Amino acid sequence: MSDSLEQIAREVSVCTNCPLHQGRTHAVPGDGPPQADIMFIGEGPGFHEDRQGLPFVGNAGQFLEQMLASIGLKRSDVYITNVVKCRPPNNRDPMPDEIEACRSYLERQITLINPKVIVTLGRFSMARWFPTARISKIHGQARRIGERMIVPFFHPAAALHQPSLREIVEQDFLKLPQFVEQYSTGIEEAPPDVGEEPPDEDEDGPVQLSLF
Ligand code: URA
Ligand code: SF4
Repeated sequence: MSDSLEQIAREVSVCTNCPLHQGRTHAVPGDGPPQADIMFIGEGPGFHEDRQGLPFVGNAGQFLEQMLASIGLKRSDVYITNVVKCRPPNNRDPMPDEIEACRSYLERQITLINPKVIVTLGRFSMARWFPTARISKIHGQARRIGERMIVPFFHPAAALHQPSLREIVEQDFLKLPQFVEQYSTGIEEAPPDVGEEPPDEDEDGPVQLSLF
């Protein structure tokens, strides 16, 4: 039988591949049209997402919807999911083995939806494509990888916690339509500086929240 988003949602709802299943009320597989051009990948469900079984329905989700509206899009125009499908306790960061345990669901979703543009929200989803990059260096820059454009954004919750990031996130969103357009025309800007650096060097100082 061929794979489908419904099949993935069914598997996720009963998945016990990592300890995060123990604390969930609902698994949060993802939400949006199966043919979406743009796919957003966040970190993991929070309180409200766990309650409703839907991604980005709390404050960060509200901000995400505002940002989408700024470029003439509705939530229902895009596909939204997370690197882990069950809520980490107290919204802690997902751990590497949990991300690994959940990876195949995300990979199957990407294959099925086959979006033109993937927007990673925060560093955990960014690391799927740019494991050594710094989000402060590469946010808002699109890179063509294989058949699609990958665009790292700051996590919307980071913008809510840090007013200085809000404007950056707003401006990054305004570039999104042009990345979808570039995908279609094959025009590409110079590849971004991926900002590879030793991970223990912290030149960004205290403004970088470790959470995002
Ligand atoms: N933050 C995330 O990373 N994902 C959600 O679904 C909600 C908040
Ligand atoms: Fe399974 Fe992913 Fe939930 Fe872990 S987070 S139990 S791997 S669905």
